Amino acid sequence: MKKYLMSLDQGTTSSRCIIFEPNGNVVAKAAREFTQYFPTQGWVEHDACEIWESQLATAKEALAKASITADDIIGIGITNQRETTVVWEKETGKPICPAIVWQCRRTEAICEALRQAGKDRIIQEKTGLTPDPYFSATKLQWILQNIPDAQSRAERGELLFGTVDTWLIYKLTGGRVHATDPSNAARTMLFNIHTLTWDEELLELFDIPRTMLPDVMPTVGIFGETDAALFGSPITIAAVAGDQQAALFGQCCFEAGDIKNTYGTGGFMLMNTGSTPVASSNGLLTTVGWQIGGKTTYVLEGSVFICGAAIQWLRDGLGLLPSAAESEAIAAEVPDSGGVYFVPAFVGLGTPYWNAGARGTICGITRGTTRAHLVRATLDAMAFQTVDVIDAMRRDTGLSVPLLRVDGGACANNLLMQTQSDLAALHIARLPHVEATAWGVAAMTGLATNLYQSTEELKALLPAAKIFAPSMDEEERIAHLEKWHLAISASNIFS
Ligand code: ADP
Repeated sequence: MKKYLMSLDQGTTSSRCIIFEPNGNVVAKAAREFTQYFPTQGWVEHDACEIWESQLATAKEALAKASITADDIIGIGITNQRETTVVWEKETGKPICPAIVWQCRRTEAICEALRQAGKDRIIQEKTGLTPDPYFSATKLQWILQNIPDAQSRAERGELLFGTVDTWLIYKLTGGRVHATDPSNAARTMLFNIHTLTWDEELLELFDIPRTMLPDVMPTVGIFGETDAALFGSPITIAAVAGDQQAALFGQCCFEAGDIKNTYGTGGFMLMNTGSTPVASSNGLLTTVGWQIGGKTTYVLEGSVFICGAAIQWLRDGLGLLPSAAESEAIAAEVPDSGGVYFVPAFVGLGTPYWNAGARGTICGITRGTTRAHLVRATLDAMAFQTVDVIDAMRRDTGLSVPLLRVDGGACANNLLMQTQSDLAALHIARLPHVEATAWGVAAMTGLATNLYQSTEELKALLPAAKIFAPSMDEEERIAHLEKWHLAISASNIFS
C-alpha cells in the first residue's frame, strides 16, 4: 500500500527532498548544496548535471532515511527555482553550456534594447512581466546567439530548452517527457498568460524555434513516470510548480485576496487574484499561480531584492551581529530605532519602485545611535518594504487584505513579525515548522493522485498558526511610513 508523498525542492543554492505522510508530517529530509559559478561580474551559472545529480542523490537518501522504497511513494511533486535556463541535446541529453541562473544580469543590454524599441508594452500585455534579465527569454536568446552552432542546431530540432522543472522531469523520465507547467512557463517571457500557450509573436521576437519548447501541462496532473532504473520501480510525477507558487499553495492561499510573504535572502509576496489576471499599475508582476482541472489561478507578485540579506550584511559585512538569529535579542535592547531609517537598496529597488540605480541609505543617525538601533532599523526596513508591496497589491486589486501569511528563514524572528503586524496594520499568521514550498507541491501531488479530494481537506491539515496582532497607534504608524518614504527618496537620489 503506497502511503507517502515525495517533494523534490530544487532551490538556488541546494537541492532538497522531503517525504511527507498524508497528514503533512515530515518522515525524512535530505539536502545537498551545489556549486555556484560567478564567471564574471553580474553573471551567475549552475551546472545542470550537478543539479540533477544532487537532486537524485537527495531522493535516494530520503528514501533510505525513511526506510522505504519507491513502491511506498504515491507520487513525486517537483518545485523549483524559477527562470533558470537550461539547453541540452535531444539525442544525448547533455547540456550544451552552463545553466544561466535567474540572478544573472548578462542580458541587461538586450532588455534595454527591447525597452528602447517600445516592446515592453506588448511583453507586459502578453506575459504579465516587464522585460528584465531575470526572465528566461533573453537568457535562451543569449545561448542561441553565443554558443557555436546553437541557433542552427535549434532550428534543425536538435536542441531542447527547459527551466529547471523541465530538466528534472526529462532526466527523471529517462528523456521520455519534455514538459513544464504554466507557473514555470509564465516566467519565461515567452508564454501568453491569457491563452496559456507559447506566444508565436514573442518566439519570433526572440528568434526561438518552437520545437525547442516543452509541452505545457496542468500544474496538478500526471506528467509521467520515473525511469524504473532510478529508484528500483517507477514513481508517478504528479505535480510541478515554481517555488513561490508552491509556497502560496502550501499556505492554503486558495481564495482571491489571500497573500503570503516569504522572508528569505530576498522577499517575495504573492497574492491570489482568482481566475482573472490583474494587470498592475504599481510595479507588480502578473503571473500564473497554478492550473488545476482546467481552472487557472492567477497571482500578483512583488519582489524585494534585499530582505534577510540586510541582516547578513550586518553580520558579515559590518561584523555587528554574531548570528542572524541574535538580531532579535539585540534589537529588543531598545524600544525603537531611535529615529534611524535604513533602506537596504544594495542592488537597486524592486517593487514598487523599480529603480536599478538606487543605493542603500541610512538616515537619522545621532551621536546616541547604537548597534541596537541599527539592527532594529534593519528589521524595520524588512517590514517597511513589505508594507510598500502590500499597498501596491491593494491599489492594483481593490481587494482588502484580511491576513498576511508568512514563511522563509527570517519569519522566525518574533520582533520582526510584531513590527510587520504594527507597520502594516494587519494580522500575521505564522505556521509552526512548516516547509511551505515542499508541502505545497506535496499537497498538489496528493490532489493529482486522489489522496485528497479537495482543497478544503488541505485546509484541515494545516496546523494552528501563531497570530501576531497589530498594536501600534494609527498616527504613529503613518508618521513612521512618512519617514520611511523620505528615506526611500534619499536612496533614489543616488541613482
Ligand atoms: P533563502 O531560502 O533565500 O536562502 P531562508 O529562507 O533560508 O533564505 O532565510 C535566510 C535569510 O533569513 C538570511 O538572509 C538570514 O540573514 C535571514 N534570517 C534567518 N534567521 C533570521 C532571524 N532570526 N532574524 C532575522 N533574519 C534572519
